[in-house]
Amino acid sequence: MTAMLIENAVGIFTGLPGAAMRATGAIRIRDGVIAEIGALEPQPDEQRLDARGCVIYPGLISTHHHMFQSVMKGVTAGINLPLAGWLRAAPYRLWSKLDEEALAVAARIALSELLLSGTTTAADHHYLFSDTFRFDPAHVIFEVARSLGIRLVFCRGGATKDRHMNADDFPPMPVETLDSMLKSVEACAQRFHDPSPRSLTRVALAPTTPTWSLDPGELKEVIAAARRMKLRLHSHLSETADYVDFCLSVHGKRPVEWLADHDWLGPDIWFAHLVHLDPGEVEILASTGTGMAHCPQSNCRLGSGVAPADHMARLGGAVSLGVDGAASNEAADMISEMHSCWHTHRAVKGAHAVTAEDVVHWATAGGARVLGFPEIGTLAPGQQADIAIFDLNQPRHFGMHDPLIAPVTCAGNAHVRYLLVGGRIVVEDGAIPRLDLAKLRSDAFRVVERMAA
Ligand SMILES: [Zn+2]
Repeated sequence: MTAMLIENAVGIFTGLPGAAMRATGAIRIRDGVIAEIGALEPQPDEQRLDARGCVIYPGLISTHHHMFQSVMKGVTAGINLPLAGWLRAAPYRLWSKLDEEALAVAARIALSELLLSGTTTAADHHYLFSDTFRFDPAHVIFEVARSLGIRLVFCRGGATKDRHMNADDFPPMPVETLDSMLKSVEACAQRFHDPSPRSLTRVALAPTTPTWSLDPGELKEVIAAARRMKLRLHSHLSETADYVDFCLSVHGKRPVEWLADHDWLGPDIWFAHLVHLDPGEVEILASTGTGMAHCPQSNCRLGSGVAPADHMARLGGAVSLGVDGAASNEAADMISEMHSCWHTHRAVKGAHAVTAEDVVHWATAGGARVLGFPEIGTLAPGQQADIAIFDLNQPRHFGMHDPLIAPVTCAGNAHVRYLLVGGRIVVEDGAIPRLDLAKLRSDAFRVVERMAA
């Protein structure tokens, strides 16, 4: 049984709404769970963590990623292209070069970046499952997550139909029958899905996108299968105007209205991006509790636009943040994501659009809501001890009048003094104890050379 006391912090962001958002004092942890927060005296059996000069946040939660892309950063052919051209130039062109080592190295890079920015839970949307693979991507990714100690929600993606974006000089993206996809998801869930409150491993059903990856006749079967298996459903939606144009021309409705006809809305579903929504679609999403994985950096990098996350949040909708794949967001860490989120909405809509507190809420409690994981994302007695302790002892933080918002407003390379997942230390003094950084650097270099060849 772990017994810990985190003391001397400058302040605590709880992730709770309203005035309870901010707290002071110490945090007591018993057996991986938060026992008390406030003015606490140390007890003799406790390990004491000194958070002097630090602010404390709930462990951050990223709700959308493609970790395989962490060895596909800054691919020259796609660096200045919008979504469709970039897909063709980067992940679609390179996917078949992904072997077991490349996937493991990519996952280790991705999760290390997340951990070092204070992230304790990551959702990975993996949509590459090919007969040519001599490995199980779920096993590879879960194994890396286990070795680093982070919570992982594996969103098992895939497609039953080809989007016709392939070219002659690279193999087409893998497709499978719906029956094969659902059987594979079920097997994956039986092996890895742990619905318990302390879970480190969960599985979601996640066809790549309902518009182009599935036949419309399959949509109801997919959501019914997810609900039968008690898994959440995740997918991409309305990332670009192409989604809207396609749905209007083929189905005669905007994407969210079209999906409403197929039961693809509800609190057990979350979509990445949701950039191109009209006000009616935002209302439908908010009133049904359907979640948004807001990915501002990737949307900026690809020139896709700015999602109405602020509008959806004002209506009580479920908004979270995701870093998305590093092939379209080379800064795939949550500190950068929060900072960009805070800036982007203000640049477009004015200084009142989004506060630093809103951004923290989306990156913590919002993520927990979207993932259906109420035991994480907030700091309160009874919650899992997923805790990020950000060290503010760098010049970029000096001079702050409100240090509690410094990780969002000052941003830059975070220095995490401690990061806890369920009370276990996974980052200490800006380093991951279980990671061989020099080896990861040389592995990444070798994989990139092989992919570029
Ligand atoms: Zn994505």
